[in-house]
Amino acid sequence: MEDTAALDVREVVKNYGPRKALDGVSLAVQPGEFVALLGPNGAGKSTLFQLLSGLFSADAGEIAVAGHDMSRSPIPALSQLGVVFQQATLDLDLTVRANLRFHARLHGMASSTSGARIDEELQRLGLAERAADGCRTLSGGNRRKVELARALLHSPRVLLMDEATVGLDPESRHSLLAYVRELCRKRDMGVLWATHLVDEAADADRVCVLHQGHLLAAGTPESIKRQQGCESLLEAFLGLTGIDPAEHD
Ligand code: ADP
Repeated sequence: MEDTAALDVREVVKNYGPRKALDGVSLAVQPGEFVALLGPNGAGKSTLFQLLSGLFSADAGEIAVAGHDMSRSPIPALSQLGVVFQQATLDLDLTVRANLRFHARLHGMASSTSGARIDEELQRLGLAERAADGCRTLSGGNRRKVELARALLHSPRVLLMDEATVGLDPESRHSLLAYVRELCRKRDMGVLWATHLVDEAADADRVCVLHQGHLLAAGTPESIKRQQGCESLLEAFLGLTGIDPAEHD
């Protein structure tokens, strides 16, 4: 199974009525690879993440997670997936540990192993002392880290991060990005990091530029700049998408 992609998306189509949210999108993430899915609002990033996490089915195309086809073998496919969604999903009235325990139980982890896994992930994230605190008392950056710890509890082969830095201050944003990059290398996990922020994609192993449901370019940041004849990834992104620089944040 050495050559199996962590994530393999082939010719995926998703329509909302007459609107084509994804129009034949293909991309792959290898184990240990950090891939940025870069696209402006409305590009189709969230739609793709909803398909990848099994919330909806694609109208056409195939998705495989660690070699398991999402439509034919959804349970093994989903068991290899960790997801941090854009919208906050912690129960703010529960403690950090209770949120993680609840998730572990929901995913059928035995309490004999989940306790140790929870401690391990919180320790790595520097949140061990906050385990008994209510989530409401945490900063936005730490809440996101708890969501990340939760996504990692079952040691997935693929991590999906959907605009995970939205609403965070620059320091928390950089710290989350750096942590996930390191995770990816150390655990040989494939990461798909969706963002509309070009600077978050600049150091990715590969970048996939999505716009209006189409994949416009895919490659290393260097190769995308070269193909577009641009000095910076921002310039290349604006050139590819035709977005007015004044309207891009
Ligand atoms: P992104 O996450 O990149 O901002 P989305 O996946 O949310 O993009 O949206 C892609 C396109 O699909 C947009 O044109 C959006 O308006 C449309 N869309 C998203 N969700 C729905 C929905 N539930 N019903 C109808 N159109 C939708």
